[in-house]
Amino acid sequence: MNDPRAIAQRLLGAIDWQTEVSGYCRCPGEAQHTHPNRKQDCRVHLDGAPTIFCFHSSCLAAVAEANRRLRRELGASPWVMTLPGGRILRSGDVLQKDGTVLSKAAIMAGSGALRTSTSRQQAERLMLESIRVLAERFRPELFEIFHWPYQQILAESPLQVSERDADDQFRTWLRLWPAHCHVWIGDVYSTGQPKHRTHFRPVSDWYQIGPVMGNYTCGSAFKPGSFRRSNDNLNGERFMVVESDTLGKDEVGAIFAYLRRRLHYRLHCIIDTAGKSLHGWFEAPPDAIWEGRLKAGLEVLGCDPKVFTHSQPVRVPGAWRNGKLQRIVWLEQ
Ligand SMILES: [Zn+2]
Repeated sequence: MNDPRAIAQRLLGAIDWQTEVSGYCRCPGEAQHTHPNRKQDCRVHLDGAPTIFCFHSSCLAAVAEANRRLRRELGASPWVMTLPGGRILRSGDVLQKDGTVLSKAAIMAGSGALRTSTSRQQAERLMLESIRVLAERFRPELFEIFHWPYQQILAESPLQVSERDADDQFRTWLRLWPAHCHVWIGDVYSTGQPKHRTHFRPVSDWYQIGPVMGNYTCGSAFKPGSFRRSNDNLNGERFMVVESDTLGKDEVGAIFAYLRRRLHYRLHCIIDTAGKSLHGWFEAPPDAIWEGRLKAGLEVLGCDPKVFTHSQPVRVPGAWRNGKLQRIVWLEQ
């Protein structure tokens, strides 16, 4: 029987194993790195969909090629590994954080309404499960490598906007939207009845009105004439607003920096909600597949899954909350 660890070491060189199936390795694209190397930059995972992952982004092509080779070689010969305690791990199974084995068959079969699905959907489920364990394993390094505390976010903003007054904050933020968009601004319950149409207006209207119609907006624009903040009424233009209920202002920046620098999602602004957290306004993922993968990873990293409900209300800059201004602290236009 093949030992998958031996196959991985043949391809990648020495591996410093952290679990039975995951460890640090030398990045196959290390020669292309443009930032200093750290020992914990690159990891290989043999369970689920076998994956090499590096925190640098200049090596993406070399890592992608190495991933194809790793999957081809491991896929060519199914393997079985006996773990301490007699647990059996087969190729494609996922070794969870608590040590239990989630079988490939169970992942691909799904549950409940998902039981009838195409082979493509089944393969994607395995990919999502692999992303979840991968994110769980690299979480500590991510928060260390991409550490971006609040004061540094303020200091590094390409445009210094945090001290602007409420009206200026609001109009600065409005300029992020394409001119044709209809944007909702209100309080959480300013939605659902025809009288709420007044909260759904073109950007130019809001520009005149100012930040006086409520503390919330939405990362998505709506069809003209909408009065309900529902997914059916979206016009297709949107931002992905990343937030967390559990990560503080000095922690959540690491997620923003990771999305921006490593995954190359464009960051438009960061908003201080005048509460415990910051919201990062990013360009939306290109399609449903990438969105699903991003969701799987971000949830494990501590982000709020509501981010992916497109009609979710979020704090609007320029409005006051208990005497404190909801404001933009980082902006690139
Ligand atoms: Zn690399």
